[in-house]
Amino acid sequence: DERLILQFQITLYGDDERLVMARDITRLHRLEQMRRDFVANVSHELRTPLTVLAGYLETYGDMADQLPPRLGRGLVQMKAQTERMQNLVNDLLLLSRLEIDQGGRDDAPLAMDELLHAVQSDAVALSDGRQSITVEVEESRALLGSEQEIRSALSNLTFNAVRYAGEGRHIVLRWRPHGAGACLEVADDGEGIDPVHLPRLTERFYRVDKGRSTATGGTGLGLAIVKHVLLRHDARLEIDSLPGRGATFRCLFPAERLRDTAAERAQRA
Ligand code: ADP
Repeated sequence: DERLILQFQITLYGDDERLVMARDITRLHRLEQMRRDFVANVSHELRTPLTVLAGYLETYGDMADQLPPRLGRGLVQMKAQTERMQNLVNDLLLLSRLEIDQGGRDDAPLAMDELLHAVQSDAVALSDGRQSITVEVEESRALLGSEQEIRSALSNLTFNAVRYAGEGRHIVLRWRPHGAGACLEVADDGEGIDPVHLPRLTERFYRVDKGRSTATGGTGLGLAIVKHVLLRHDARLEIDSLPGRGATFRCLFPAERLRDTAAERAQRA
């Protein structure tokens, strides 16, 4: 690939003067591409050995109570850590696919009502009665997008709320109008996040509290995945939070991403 990649910056001075600066970013671009490919290849290659490991551990796991206690405990630990590694590798692979692919190929009108309820029921299982989780649908238009990607973004936001909001809190999954567009929102009334962290929150592996986050089973990639999914859907993420006052994550979609499927059906009939 012999293409040259240039970045231009044009500054206007008054009516007839311009300053044009060109920067050769070919090398930077190539390095970035190599980084992406490397991460994608490594995560892909790690999947098979991890699947084999997990398979054996699953089989032996049933025998844990027949082993001496120390060995049994070790086996339980190995299972848990292998699962953690699998989650990490899957998230890394998903993230590099989101970066590499152009997206938009499997976009379809999504029934948001069903999607929100599906994620709600997964979250209820994860929360195990520690929080109440509700769904509010105030927007009737469908979102044009990839079901798999939007579901993964919504799941990441919702599971984060379950993991970080704390016990006895309330979590709401909401699909509502926002200007001419619409907003997919996950709000909790939990511990919240100090504003100093907000600008860096969607970076890979950025965590507010390292120790606690690792214990909750996250991979540190959740919000980076959300950000990339939204980029591919012409949407942006807005985070609103105050310590002790909960956190709200809003995904804002423009009107072009919405489809009034009910009106279309009525028109056809
Ligand atoms: P992970 O959850 O795997 O650590 P994420 O990228 O999903 O990685 O989240 C980054 C960090 O943002 C988390 O470690 C956590 O500190 C913070 N966070 C995310 N959602 C919430 C929330 N609803 N309430 C409080 N903190 C949150």
